[in-house]
Amino acid sequence: MLKNNQKTHASFGTRLVHAEPVDERHHGALSMPIYQVSTFHQFSLSEPGRYDYSRSGNPTREALEQAIADLEGGYAGFAFSSGMAAISSVFCLFKTDDEILLSDDIYGGTYRAITKLFPRFGIQAKFVNTTDINAVRDAITPATRAVFLESPSNPQMNITDIEAVCRLAKQHNLLTIVDNTFMTPYLQQPLRLGADIVVHSATKYIGGHSDVVGGLVVAAEKELAEEIGFIQNAFGAILGPQDSWLLLRGLKTLKVRMDQHEKSARRIAEWLDNHSAVERVYYPGLAHHPGHELAAVQAAGFGGIISFSLRNVEQVESFLNQITLPAIAVSLGAVESIVTYPARMSHASIPEAKRKQMGVTDTLLRLSVGLEEPDDLIHDFEQAFRCMGFASSDVRTYGNISVSK
Ligand SMILES: *Cc1c(COP(=O)(O)O)cnc(C)c1O
Repeated sequence: MLKNNQKTHASFGTRLVHAEPVDERHHGALSMPIYQVSTFHQFSLSEPGRYDYSRSGNPTREALEQAIADLEGGYAGFAFSSGMAAISSVFCLFKTDDEILLSDDIYGGTYRAITKLFPRFGIQAKFVNTTDINAVRDAITPATRAVFLESPSNPQMNITDIEAVCRLAKQHNLLTIVDNTFMTPYLQQPLRLGADIVVHSATKYIGGHSDVVGGLVVAAEKELAEEIGFIQNAFGAILGPQDSWLLLRGLKTLKVRMDQHEKSARRIAEWLDNHSAVERVYYPGLAHHPGHELAAVQAAGFGGIISFSLRNVEQVESFLNQITLPAIAVSLGAVESIVTYPARMSHASIPEAKRKQMGVTDTLLRLSVGLEEPDDLIHDFEQAFRCMGFASSDVRTYGNISVSK
């Protein structure tokens, strides 16, 4: 385990490997034991032990919570039973007549919770293009309490200037909450850009292996952390010890996975960008992406998610029928490549008019680039495009792609 004074010097990849606290209480075990336990013996009524009941605290979950707080640079971390449990628990900070501003292309589940569930408790949502700081400023009213954003957003991969939004939010006494699922703390640390709360669907890159559903929250400051700790215990949507352990394990390989996801994504994005079967590619790593320069400054990488549109709906269907390597599924961030059809899958819970306005058209696909050899993925897409009637010669610059090996 890294001592505190070593942490400030160690590179982030090293910190990921050593994020898990190693402790004499656990005989120095290098992998945190799974405390599969609901309750703890109270040896002394006057001096209860550190843990009493696993909803309130569990050693395995706490190791994960400490690790994510450390990696995001926050005061305290909290693990929840899903990304949505984490996000909904954060929304529980607000009360009747409070208003929250959200990116207008927010994750579908977040959209559902904030437009269908939380209005029952008088909490109102207002959607705004957070990539336009003036639009955010104009949307603030005396009832506004927070700005909730995703950068990159999904599926268009829009980039919001997190630091600028945080500065504006502070001037108006608003909290800034950033869903950092797509970037992970390895590529982006919103608290360092001024955010108050970071949330994650740890189901995605942090877990990384399509085998666990979980959510994480990190609060920058003590007061906010205490409030979220209260909600976590009162509302009770905690992560179990076994799943906490899986996320701890995921963190240890996060760097090597993210490095490869991104390297492959860059290559595949360029390839798709040059293929005439593809109408448009949305990937912040491409120079023509409107958020490219901002992403390059605010994050340490562009991540592994690419969206692209085909030329018509029929082609979407043939493409999905022809590809063999990626799973066709919701979710992302796994070792396997996953192709999602947002209009009918991840964003299906959003009304059609709103969906179109968000840029989720009927021809848009999202690819979470996995850890397969990128050439194998390219060959798979190439054979699918060929079956759809596009010749290999439609690949305009296939030979010119610069690959850094
Ligand atoms: C998947 C996802 C969520 C929801 O997380 P679950 O673990 O599925 O509940 C929230 N935000 C983003 C950006 C996601 O991709």
